[in-house]
Order: sequence, then structure tokens, then C-alpha cells
Amino acid sequence: MISIDRALELVLGGLEPLGAERAPLADAAGRVAAEPALSAVDLPPFDRSAMDGYVVRAADTAPGVPLRLAGGVAAGEVATAELEPGTAARVSTGAAIPKGADAVLQSELAEERNGAVTPARAIDVGRHIRFRGEDLHAGAVLAEAGARLTLPKISALASAGVGDVAVHRRPRLDLIVTGSELLPLGAPPEPGRIHESNGLMVGLLAARAGAVVNDHGVVGDDREATIAAVEEGLAGDVLVVSGGVSVGPHDHVKPAFEQCGVDEVFWRVSIKPGKPLWFGRRDRTLVFGLPGNPLSTIVCFSVFIAPALRRLGGEREARPRYEAGRLTVPARASDGRTEYLTAALRPGADGVLEATPTERQGSHMTGALGESDGFAIAPEDAGELPAGAPVDVLRLD
Ligand code: AMP
Ligand code: MG
Repeated sequence: MISIDRALELVLGGLEPLGAERAPLADAAGRVAAEPALSAVDLPPFDRSAMDGYVVRAADTAPGVPLRLAGGVAAGEVATAELEPGTAARVSTGAAIPKGADAVLQSELAEERNGAVTPARAIDVGRHIRFRGEDLHAGAVLAEAGARLTLPKISALASAGVGDVAVHRRPRLDLIVTGSELLPLGAPPEPGRIHESNGLMVGLLAARAGAVVNDHGVVGDDREATIAAVEEGLAGDVLVVSGGVSVGPHDHVKPAFEQCGVDEVFWRVSIKPGKPLWFGRRDRTLVFGLPGNPLSTIVCFSVFIAPALRRLGGEREARPRYEAGRLTVPARASDGRTEYLTAALRPGADGVLEATPTERQGSHMTGALGESDGFAIAPEDAGELPAGAPVDVLRLD
């Protein structure tokens, strides 16, 4: 049995981002840029009006002195003629400023009558004009290689005339769920059988970690069927097999990995729930055998697989997403393994998450999981932690 930290080193050490592909902005959102993404245009791309009103020559404007009205420019249009001295032209917000004009007289300060516009006061040069390039210039770097394409960056790229960007490829996760006892979601109960939930949870957690899931469905506890499914599942970046990784007579997953030439890196980690976690590799494919208890699956996925997927997707430093918390009651790890306790998590007066472990704890306690917001982590070597002790928490939302 190895420590969680050692297991993380073995999973994450040397893991490089996957190659690049071009993705349209909608699909690139949340992913990691593989090359710098540059603005294609100046922003604004041309001098534009910030107001509805009239373009004028500022020097012509004086309180109560009418200017002859000479047409107008709507958004999307470009005036062909220069604005003559002593004239004004209607302009809408966002429209291009015609040659000759150097300011915008906003409607509220103008009176239009009989083909003339009279300003209420003199206007300064540049008033209400958004100048070309005042925000940024074409070629400016909007996202460095390695940066996550957050919504602010995606919005800026769209405005900057960029339609697609080079991002790291999404990891493909092949998923096999084993267990002859498993009933489909929502199926009528049957004697001796339980409802499947790990496939659902791995799919949801994998999508949040940026993976594309290739779901092979449920395989019964049969040696040949397990081998066939594993061989097929080894074609992607990550293979996750749920259940069957212990030493019972119906646990065919480890022999199937061996048969398919997957090299074992470790089996068994000092984590509760999740001790029978198995990890290995075949060529570039990472292979995880998850213990079948639903809480073990969720904990092992969140701690080991999600960071691996995020690293493959380009987030080089990805780690488990722990947050700082504080216990409201005493807690301790049992069995000498670091324990992930299902816990209610509520922000305290100082904003720190206060963790209250649920009364029922156990890798099969999916009801207690439903009462929790995630896990509070009691380290294996910490002994009894008093109420108020700082703990790491893993939030699931
Ligand atoms: P295993 O790791 O296959 O020995 O399974 C451990 C426990 O988890 C058993 O009680 C299984 O019935 C249960 N289990 C296995 N797979 C699933 C699943 N996909 N959904 C819900 N429970 C499961
Ligand atoms: Mg099983």
C-alpha cells in the first residue's frame, strides 16, 4: 500500500499535455491554449461614436449657433463624403466617424429643427469618440500558450475577430463498468441486484475535467467479456474500469489488464474509501481500476483521475482541488488510512468552509453522500482532530 502523495506522483509525474487542435471559440471555452491567441484587428477597429447624436467639427460648435444638417451615418455604414465645415450629420452609437468630423454632439445637448442642429454648448475635440486601437492593437496576445480560455478571454477573442484557436486536445476517456449485479438507472428493483451509479458519476466528473467519454457500458463479471472490453478500451488516452479490481472470485479486471499487456504501476493506496485503486499504463494510455463502491469511485476519481485529465488537457500544474476548511466537531481517520469523510460544508463567518461530517460514514453510504457537500479529509497520521481544526475539503457541486 502506498501513500496518496506517492500515488499522485506516480500518476501525474511526467504527464505532458496532449497535442494541439484548432477549435471554434464555443468549443474552446474552458480549454487551454496551445499557442498564443492574437487579436486579428485593432479594437475598436475604427473610430466609432459612443453616443446617438451628431458628428461635428468641434471648432464649429458654440452655444446656440446652428449647424446645417448634412445626412447621417447609421451603425454598419461608412460615410463616403467628408463632413464639411459648418455642418453636422446624424450618427448612431457604434457608427464610423466620417472624415472631417472630430467630435460627437450627443442628442441630449442638441436641438434639431428645419434642417439645422443647434448645440447647447461647445464640444471638445474627441468628445464621445471611441478611437481605433485605444483598447488594443492587432497582434496583441489575448491568451498566452498554457492559459485557460476563460469566458473573459473568449469574449475578448470574439470581439478581436478570432473565430478559432489552437487548444490542447481533450483527453478521451474510455469507460467500462463491471458487475453482474448492476441494474440500469431507474430500472425496477430486482432481487440481488443494485442500481448502477459509477458509470454515471465517472461520466459527469470526466466531462467536468475536460474529457470526452467513450462509454463501453456495463460488462458482467465474466473473464472473456472483461478482456474483450479492456482491449477495446485501451485505444484512448485514459481507460477507467469500475469495479472488479479486488481479489474475489468474480474480480476479473486485474487479470484482464495483465492479459492486455497493461503494466501495473501500483495497486492499493492508503486512502479511505478507495484502498483497492489500481493504476497502470499501456504505451501512452493511463489505466485506472476503480473500486466499485460508489464513494470510492468518486473519491479516487476526484483525487487521481481528474487532475490527470486536466494535465492532459493542458493544465500543467493540475492537482486535486482541495480547499481550506475547518471541522465543527472532532474527527479522525480510522484504519490508519487518510479518510475522506462525507461532510456538510458551509462557509463560516470568516468565509472558511466549516465541515461537519455526516453521522453515517462508509464507502457504500450513498444516502449519507446525498446529505453532504463533499468530503473533509482526516490525514492518516493526524490522530484525533479537535473541533475547529483546519482540514482540507474536497467540494463536489
Ligand atoms: P467491486 O469493486 O466490484 O467488488 O464492488 C464493490 C461494491 O460496489 C459492491 O457492493 C458492488 O455491488 C458495488 N458496485 C460495483 N459497481 C458499482 C456501480 N457501477 N454502481 C454502484 N455500485 C457498484
Ligand atoms: Mg464487482
